[in-house]
Amino acid sequence: MNTKISEIDESSLKLSKEIIEDGGAVAFPTETVYGLGANAFNTAAVENIFKIKGRPNDNPLIVHVHKDYDLSALVDFVPDYAVKLAKAFLPGPLTMVYKSKGKVSPAVSCGLETLAVRIPSHEGAQRFLKYLNLPIAAPSANVSKHVSPTAAEHVFYDLNGKIELILNGGKCSGGIESTVLDCTGEAPVVLRSGLITREMIEKVAGSCAEYVYKEGAAARSPGMKYKHYSPACRTSLYAYEERFAALAEYKSERGRGVKAFILCDNQTATELKAEYVLNLGSTENEIAANLYSKLREGEGMADYIIAIAPEKQNGVMAGVMNRLKKACGSNL
Ligand code: AMP
Ligand code: MG
Repeated sequence: MNTKISEIDESSLKLSKEIIEDGGAVAFPTETVYGLGANAFNTAAVENIFKIKGRPNDNPLIVHVHKDYDLSALVDFVPDYAVKLAKAFLPGPLTMVYKSKGKVSPAVSCGLETLAVRIPSHEGAQRFLKYLNLPIAAPSANVSKHVSPTAAEHVFYDLNGKIELILNGGKCSGGIESTVLDCTGEAPVVLRSGLITREMIEKVAGSCAEYVYKEGAAARSPGMKYKHYSPACRTSLYAYEERFAALAEYKSERGRGVKAFILCDNQTATELKAEYVLNLGSTENEIAANLYSKLREGEGMADYIIAIAPEKQNGVMAGVMNRLKKACGSNL
């Protein structure tokens, strides 16, 4: 199969509709990462997404809809706080988990009674979803466990020959996956941190808890228990306080001829003055937006990526830390 990358226009939208209605998959941009979408009503199409990615079959998908889609057709119960949160943050990088009405294929939620729903703000994503007017089940458009794609070329690198069409909407501005929020209980619970932070949710909803997955326990959001976001080379993660130990490790590896690179924010890069650096930038939003593209850039030239955590750990950095730990297989 030839994989085509197209700008989003009438002709590529028409082709994407044909592919999706025929039970196929199309990659499309969102403000977080690129998604690999299929018709959520079609079980074979949804199962195919798992196959294309090599995704474990107990890790449920998020359904994406356009901003005028009638969500009450898909989910059952929308608590007051969820209405407030939707008003404050949607369309945007927030996925809300509700009780499912069982209208989409059970393959989407891997048999769970809940459904994760997202309304992306990316203009290209909205056009695509509006054109189809279907709920689109979509995980990130990468091979399972690899770094998530934040540009059309990243999708092509992972899925060339496996899908027909990639809609090109440029570089994703957000850069890390959406916040996943459980809205089935009396108060919201963050299942996966992202750009809509726990602190932002708390301000609107009054309270907001954060679910912490414990190794071996039944995961409330099954994606948590898997290794994720990993570049193809060796990695390690150092705490901010250990940054000089990271520098020593970098120097010792370089001394042995290993192509080691330090991955860190601009503040740490300036302080450490290492020659080979994957610089994530200065602001929280820059760091999130650059994280995956720098991991991909790094795996193309490094034998070993030595990541250093940012000093700040809350807000958007909670989401960045979650991804860094998973990318580096670290329990830091
Ligand atoms: P990805 O599509 O790779 O961004 O992953 C989707 C994330 O959403 C995973 O972490 C899933 O575990 C989570 N998720 C999807 N559906 C549900 C659901 N019904 N309940 C809880 N978590 C979900
Ligand atoms: Mg993913």
